[in-house]
Amino acid sequence: MNVKERIKQLRQELPTHVKLVAVSKTQPVESIRQAMEAGQHAFGENRVQELVPKFNALPQAQWHMIGHLQTNKVKYIVPFVDLIHAVDSLRLLLEINRQAQRINRVVNCLLQVHIAQEETKFGLTADEVVQLVTQPDVALLTHVCIKGLMGMATFTDDEKIIRQEFRTLYNLFNALKRQKLPPNAGMEILSMGMSHDYRIAIEEGSNMVRIGSAIFGKRK
Ligand SMILES: *Cc1c(COP(=O)(O)O)cnc(C)c1O
Repeated sequence: MNVKERIKQLRQELPTHVKLVAVSKTQPVESIRQAMEAGQHAFGENRVQELVPKFNALPQAQWHMIGHLQTNKVKYIVPFVDLIHAVDSLRLLLEINRQAQRINRVVNCLLQVHIAQEETKFGLTADEVVQLVTQPDVALLTHVCIKGLMGMATFTDDEKIIRQEFRTLYNLFNALKRQKLPPNAGMEILSMGMSHDYRIAIEEGSNMVRIGSAIFGKRK
């Protein structure tokens, strides 16, 4: 199967409320073009150095930053990025707001939650997420809109572990939805699920999946 066929098959499989972000990192622009010809609009990249030239090549696509973002790189993507998935500090949120204000744009963000067992520097704990969204400073950020949460499950074949982690994230998402949030924060998007676990993620309440290798094939 080629890229176009895989996109079409995924479209048929995914429920209509689930948005597909095609993860195009390391893939050539030509493959992204093929996906676009099959009707795919949203693409995810995890490195700023790769995201910017790909946006320049295909500005008509919708570009998502799905990887860890350093504050000194924020300014390069703020002019065009559709959604930043992996915000994990107030400092980063402040810098996104500062850069977005300069160009009079509101930038949509998700807060990354650390749900996996694996050790990583990235992602907030559930408590930290609650603290961050309810921080008085956050309500003052006029050019940032927090749209929801993002998380990655442990890389394992054990479905039980994956399901439990996604369920934990969904429960946090729902709990926050019921809480009073500032006007620039809302729980609408739950970004969870990749090539090997998106089916479980959708069963556990995901409404945005980030799929790379199942569309474009193995990365080199
Ligand atoms: C690479 C990546 C994906 C896609 O991974 P696949 O296994 O190729 O589907 C999803 N989310 C993030 C944050 C990634 O870095």
